[in-house]
Amino acid sequence: MRIAKALSFLSFIPCHRLPSRSIYLNGKQIPLCARCMAILLGYLMLPALFLMPLPFLVGVLLQVPMLADGFTQYKKWRESTNWLRVVTGLLSGVGQGVIVVSVVNFLVESLS
Ligand SMILES: [Zn+2]
Repeated sequence: MRIAKALSFLSFIPCHRLPSRSIYLNGKQIPLCARCMAILLGYLMLPALFLMPLPFLVGVLLQVPMLADGFTQYKKWRESTNWLRVVTGLLSGVGQGVIVVSVVNFLVESLS
C-alpha cells in the first residue's frame, strides 16, 4: 500500500513495532505501533495549542491514561487493545503539545 510505504520514513523513530500492537492499512503494517502513531497524530494539534494555550497541568494530566494503560500492561495485570493504545496515545501526544507550548510561552514571557 502506498500509504504504508510513504510512512516508511518514520522508521528512524524508536518503537518496538510489534505486529500485534500495530495498525494495518490494506494489509500493510504502519511503520510504528498504534500508540506511537497516535502520539505523532496528537502532535499535529501543536499549532492549535499555540493559538489556544492550555494550562501546563492539563498536559501532565493527559499523560495519565497512557501511563496507566502502559503500566498495567507492563505489570501483566491486563492486556491493552490497539483501540485503547490509540486513544491514550492521542491524549498523550496532545498533552505533550500542551507541555511544549506552556514551556515555550513561559520562556518567551520570561525573556521579554
Ligand atoms: Zn511504538
